[in-house]
Amino acid sequence: MKIGHCAGCQARIVWGLSPNEKRMPVDATPVRVEDAPVGVALYTLALRGADTLFIKMDRAAMPPATAVHISHFVTCPKREQFSGSRRMQ
Ligand SMILES: [Zn+2]
Repeated sequence: MKIGHCAGCQARIVWGLSPNEKRMPVDATPVRVEDAPVGVALYTLALRGADTLFIKMDRAAMPPATAVHISHFVTCPKREQFSGSRRMQ
């Protein structure tokens, strides 16, 4: 798993592939599904060789306290610096 730090805010992030195979970062620290912002994509992590895959989860199908990861493009306080961030949401 490729763990790094955001160049904008220094948060710990995991780099991997979105469901459409685009490379993107998610927050390394998971949140509970009920604490996740409404309307954002929720992911669990899976490994495929050296790559980390982000598997999109259905919020309604997950029991409370399920740990999920959120795109760092959603949570980063410096996200305005990143070109294309709106597309990534
Ligand atoms: Zn950041």
